Amino acid sequence: MADDPKALDCLACPALCCRQAGYVEVTGPDIRRLAKFLGLTARAFEAKHIVEKTRRGSKRIKAGYETCQFLDNDRRCSVYAARPKDCRGYVCWNQPDTTVFEFAKFLQKPVDALRAQEKREAEKK
Ligand code: SF4
Ligand code: SF4
Repeated sequence: MADDPKALDCLACPALCCRQAGYVEVTGPDIRRLAKFLGLTARAFEAKHIVEKTRRGSKRIKAGYETCQFLDNDRRCSVYAARPKDCRGYVCWNQPDTTVFEFAKFLQKPVDALRAQEKREAEKK
């Protein structure tokens, strides 16, 4: 991943993925891990932190395009060690929807570096 020329520096980002990148679903193991991390029972965790349930029974800790409840004021994940599988697998530069990536790239690369990257990408097509 570090070799990916599109990779961005997450530490230089206002955590756009935790604010904008759609919902975050939690599985049973995610719920148990997060509950343990927070010193709660799974039931108490669900009562306090599940913000949305779908008709098909999926449970979410982050809805739509809202900022995740676990993002702290330093732009860090406050449950990082126990974060859901959905979050572990996510990087914005490797998604079918490039909206978050484009915002993040714009925010952290100087304009001349952005132009050079766009030119390289256009030449590859
Ligand atoms: S939006 Fe992209 S660059 Fe920013 S923290 Fe998330 S994965 Fe990293
Ligand atoms: S659980 Fe952590 S990594 Fe996942 S969206 Fe929330 S703040 Fe971001």
